[in-house]
Amino acid sequence: MKHNRIGFKLGLAILSVFLIVLLSLGFVIERMFSSFYYGEKEQETEELALHFTAMAEAGDSSADRMMLSFAEFSEVSIFNIARDGSTKLHSGLHDAADRSFIRPQETAAIFNGERVNFLYTDPDGGRYFVSGQPIAGQTGIQSALYVMSSTASMEQSLDAVRRILLLAGIGAFMLALGFTWFIARILSRPLVQMQHATRKIAAGELETRLSLRRSDEIGSLAGAINDLAADLQRYRDTRQEFLANISHELRTPITYLQGYAKVVRSGLYENEDEKNLYLEIIGQEAHRLQQLVDDLFELAKMEEGKIPLKLDTVDFAQIAAQAVRKQELAVKAKGLQLLADIPEQAVMLSGDGKRLEQITLNLLENAVRYTEQGEIRVTVREENERVQFIVIDTGIGIPEEELPYIFERFYRVEKSRSRQYGGTGLGLSIVRQLVDLHGGQIDITSKPGAGTRCEVTFYRKLQ
Ligand code: ADP
Repeated sequence: MKHNRIGFKLGLAILSVFLIVLLSLGFVIERMFSSFYYGEKEQETEELALHFTAMAEAGDSSADRMMLSFAEFSEVSIFNIARDGSTKLHSGLHDAADRSFIRPQETAAIFNGERVNFLYTDPDGGRYFVSGQPIAGQTGIQSALYVMSSTASMEQSLDAVRRILLLAGIGAFMLALGFTWFIARILSRPLVQMQHATRKIAAGELETRLSLRRSDEIGSLAGAINDLAADLQRYRDTRQEFLANISHELRTPITYLQGYAKVVRSGLYENEDEKNLYLEIIGQEAHRLQQLVDDLFELAKMEEGKIPLKLDTVDFAQIAAQAVRKQELAVKAKGLQLLADIPEQAVMLSGDGKRLEQITLNLLENAVRYTEQGEIRVTVREENERVQFIVIDTGIGIPEEELPYIFERFYRVEKSRSRQYGGTGLGLSIVRQLVDLHGGQIDITSKPGAGTRCEVTFYRKLQ
């Protein structure tokens, strides 16, 4: 039951509701039967009393005898009480000496011409319906006739009804118990499965998946858990890969730095040109290290959510033009063509100039890095409240199935790309974060072998 606590609670709730309904229904049915039986008995007793009265009032000589045999036949007791309180006639099982049910005020009412009906419990616990009626003679009311009808047979019938009700109730409860157990299991099983799965995922078994195919909320929750596990798995894998790459990336320039520094320090070069070449390599490798460390630092800040923007009203056209200028050398070195369509006039935008430049530079660097031949087109355009920066290259492109992941930290298309082209797999995730911080949007479309199109849209919020 411990593992199935939700099922237990659910079952308990359903059973409690069922019990409440069952008990109130049983109570109502029992009340209905009781009042029906009592009503019938009361009416029957009163009608019998009317018959006796009619017999007595007929006044012929055989009246008493008829009354006695009718009383015996009807299984009732009769007491005919004279005005002075004496018993004129008695018949039936009820003890003639017990007259405690004959109370003065009721007798007085009967001698006033009224009828009385009441329920009477004798000293032995026997219950009777009593109907008292006046017997009229020629000179007014002669006597009071009491007819007592025992409720014993009626109680027996009622007891039988109660037994049937109890049995039906127990049967229904047992049925409900089974049904509830079944329902609770069906409802709670997927939850228990999800609990086990999430515990496994939390313990690091990220391959765990739920196979619940349902179209309701539980199904979508299971789907969300599966997505979460897949994301975590990818995150762990890329992170491990990134750490392996990062240590490799760090080790390579450090080895170069150590090696060439040693060569220069020991004078193991033949002329000044050779020495300058070695110093150049040292400079390049130091720069590469710097870039890597910068990216890592940026990433660390991002993970802490600490990238404050210095918001200003800036000229985005100028920022983009400057980024293009910075890339001109690299573009030329690769024999590519750079076509820039940037407005001459200022394109004002509210943002952090340094960060906006970082976005444009990063996208341009990627375009140059992943393009071997052809051209790179850079466009800045403004349209009402929108400012767009578009970079289109004719490079190696990105396969469609990889596109959803390229903004993830450490993600690189083909694991060898970064090393071959010199990236860290952090550029686009940094770009996306910065675009988000500016309230903008970035879309990348690509075709392997044909090229890539990056489009950044900012929404103007000029003061
Ligand atoms: P990196 O520093 O490795 O370039 P990014 O986060 O900038 O990392 O990009 C992620 C991956 O997306 C890159 O490793 C590269 O494979 C791919 N990519 C990004 N831009 C382009 C592009 N313009 N053309 C082709 N592939 C690209």
